[in-house]
Amino acid sequence: MAGFKTHLTVSTIMGLGYGGAAYWFYEVAPPTCVLAGGLCAVSGMLPDVDSDSGRPLRESIAFAAAVVPMMLVDRLSKFNLATETIVLAGAFAYLIIRFGISAFVRKVTVHRGMFHSLPAAVIFGEIAFLLASGEDINLRYYKAGGVVLGYVSHLLLDEIYSIQMHRGRMRLKSSFGTGMKVFGHQFLPNLVAYALLALFTMIAIKEPGWMRGVYQRHQQYAAQRASEANEIGSGSDQQGTLLEALKTEFGDPTSWVK
Ligand SMILES: [Zn+2]
Repeated sequence: MAGFKTHLTVSTIMGLGYGGAAYWFYEVAPPTCVLAGGLCAVSGMLPDVDSDSGRPLRESIAFAAAVVPMMLVDRLSKFNLATETIVLAGAFAYLIIRFGISAFVRKVTVHRGMFHSLPAAVIFGEIAFLLASGEDINLRYYKAGGVVLGYVSHLLLDEIYSIQMHRGRMRLKSSFGTGMKVFGHQFLPNLVAYALLALFTMIAIKEPGWMRGVYQRHQQYAAQRASEANEIGSGSDQQGTLLEALKTEFGDPTSWVK
């Protein structure tokens, strides 16, 4: 089985290719390419977050705690929320990831459990899709694709490492097939993994429509508020002109005797 560094090296090379290809062939903006490539590189350690060494988990949590709140900021800023509200949401996301998710992963997972599987790769891709912002849905697929690519590169590498050459003949280690699996041996982790897969797939399919609806309602509300403010504004303008008229009327003594 490949080590932490080997996994990161391979997924980083994949990420460079992934980012470079989008820049070269599809003229995607360089920051988007760098982000997608970076997500691919980091995702190369994700399947081992349940390993006993704890290093992949520590690094993944640190990275997620930094990047996820930033991704949220971009999504929330579309709604003209107060900066304090966005900062609070970011801080909340940080705490959830840093303490909540970290403790959860440590408690419930076993190494090479369902985290180390193809459905998990899809789930993480869907989470990335939901966090990614931007009008262009293809760019959101692209960023999510980076995560899936990095994840699958890890699973594939573990499978390759379980093939051994022995005296010129190929031999399979006992770990063969546990890297890139679709189902685990235990019922409950399978159930949880596939329930999560179904849940996130449903949310990912519905989300663009929901967000469009919420954003439109927000725009309508903002426009309504603006027009109300305008009406009040023009009302006071009229009062202003009335006051001016009265002033000139009474300010001019000759008008009194007319
Ligand atoms: Zn692994």
